[in-house]
Amino acid sequence: MADIIQLLPDSVANQIAAGEVILRPASAVKELLENAIDAGAAEINLIIKDAGKTLIQVVDNGGGMSERDARMSFERHATSKIRQANDLFAIRTLGFRGEALASIAAIAQVDMKTRRQEDELGTLVEVEGSQVKNQVNCSCPAGTSIQVKNLFFNVPARRSFLKTETAEFKHIVDEFFRVALVYNEVRFTFHQNHKLLYQLLPSNRKQRIVSLFGSGYNERLVPVEQISEAISITGFIGKPEFARKTRGEQFFFVNGRYIRHPYLHHSIESAYRELIPVEAVPSYFIYIDTDPGTIDINIHPTKTEVNFLDSKVIYAVIRSAVRQSLGMNNMLDSIDFDVERHLDFTPPGADRQIRNPFDIPPSDFNPFDQPIPGKKSTGEPWLKAPVKGWESLYNNNDFKVLQSPQSDGLFNETEFQQESQETDRENVFQFQNRYIISSIRSGLVLIDQQRAHERILFEQYLERIRQRQQVSQQELFPCQVSFSPSDAGLLDEIMEDLNVLGFHLNKLGKNTFVVSGTPSGIQESDMQALLEKLLDQYKKNLIELDLDKSTNLARSLASSLSAKSGRRLFTQEMVHLIDELFSCKVPDLTPDGRKVFTIIPVDQIQHLLNR
Ligand code: ADP
Ligand code: MG
Repeated sequence: MADIIQLLPDSVANQIAAGEVILRPASAVKELLENAIDAGAAEINLIIKDAGKTLIQVVDNGGGMSERDARMSFERHATSKIRQANDLFAIRTLGFRGEALASIAAIAQVDMKTRRQEDELGTLVEVEGSQVKNQVNCSCPAGTSIQVKNLFFNVPARRSFLKTETAEFKHIVDEFFRVALVYNEVRFTFHQNHKLLYQLLPSNRKQRIVSLFGSGYNERLVPVEQISEAISITGFIGKPEFARKTRGEQFFFVNGRYIRHPYLHHSIESAYRELIPVEAVPSYFIYIDTDPGTIDINIHPTKTEVNFLDSKVIYAVIRSAVRQSLGMNNMLDSIDFDVERHLDFTPPGADRQIRNPFDIPPSDFNPFDQPIPGKKSTGEPWLKAPVKGWESLYNNNDFKVLQSPQSDGLFNETEFQQESQETDRENVFQFQNRYIISSIRSGLVLIDQQRAHERILFEQYLERIRQRQQVSQQELFPCQVSFSPSDAGLLDEIMEDLNVLGFHLNKLGKNTFVVSGTPSGIQESDMQALLEKLLDQYKKNLIELDLDKSTNLARSLASSLSAKSGRRLFTQEMVHLIDELFSCKVPDLTPDGRKVFTIIPVDQIQHLLNR
């Protein structure tokens, strides 16, 4: 067979979104996996060392290359996939720009061994910093094996830009998933540092999703299908009840290519509206297949952005396909019932009565007279008086700052009662089960209860991790949880800190753990959901922010557990929350910078009433 790679004429090359940049190991992994798919491989093995910094190797059993093509493949704009500008609108392959290998070879040491089925001998090409160092015949299996060593060896600046190994590794796993989720008929293995992480057999799409995300996904997904002549939408979406518990996974693929598309994402979100809480994001795996002439994938070098000729139609089709699937699976009918049940609040002690927040407490009512079941009435943290923080809020000294008469910051009960009456502390009420309003001399303070809770938990957790201060635990009937291999690896890494925070976690099998204790006060009983939410958040922080491990863990746990939004609170719970909030170092913002409270000054209220 003849050689197939050609240099694109300048006129075509210039029409291609320029500047393929290998920013991180994961970009190289993506390009190599895509090349293996384009070569028609039925089996692809990915091998990584040190999160790709030392080695990235992709071995495929696809078509292979001739001796000349093997050398040509490292030239810029050398491709076998398109010939002329018109081909840009008929692309069925993942690659088309002829730049990836050239870009990788410019910043690494690359060894490629390749052989076509019909050739007796294969060829080995060694390239370093764009220079072909060596090319010899070799015997090797049919297909191609590319080793990329010492990425950025000649660009130290880019190397130093890389994030932690865990973060870079997570990017690689993401790229691997994005390919493996589409090409379910291809067999994959994935090794990191000699450890086998994934072994994926040829299977159907649902089985592939389950083998990547864990067996829990089996019952979480329902199929979506809408096939017409112009476009076919297939895939799976998550049942709404699971979106309540985790952030979920979101994937769009167009003609076999993973893409990001905020507009289409919105169409799915809108289909779920009222079925899941506002902050939850549903899981979806949507595969769109359409005539390549109706899309433009040539708008961004990474090829993850796509313009549709008619995105409004696709928006509507996807939305209706998702609604239909939710409806067919009887999920729409149960909305009202489900939402009601979700909002239902069970008081901590079943024998306690819920006070109507609009009831004005009798003047002799003292919330602290009623002991909370299972808690002593003195010395408990919820009786801790605000020590710092209030001052900064009421800088005009309007509000009487409680000063702790005792060195440990705790009041005894009588002193506390006296103080609290003077400051009218029980004068708080809850609004929409989400906000706490309290009167202060200069006006009203309006607090977002969930955010306040998140701030408080964050500071507590961070302190505990830093001090390695073991905390009280509540025993749990031991339960088993299991995760995908990469999540299990992550959990392994943070297990010690989680145990300091009061979890009692033990490894049971490769991807399985036993939970037999949680920090006291945790109300969530579904440990699988709780830990998934925690890991999701932790991963998100790893990728988006460069946080140290303790801060990340404290933030992730605080955000996973701060579920006080939508919950009715007792007066004393509110007072306690306010106290704790204003004992925080930074009471006014959540760990990720959202506003926790605001003050509505008296003059603004007067203005509203035209006084
Ligand atoms: P593109 O994929 O955009 O064409 P690349 O730089 O990624 O550009 O690859 C250049 C060419 O090298 C491809 O067009 C293809 O012909 C050949 N090639 C790359 N990787 C493989 C592989 N794993 N198997 C067979 N051919 C390959
Ligand atoms: Mg390519």
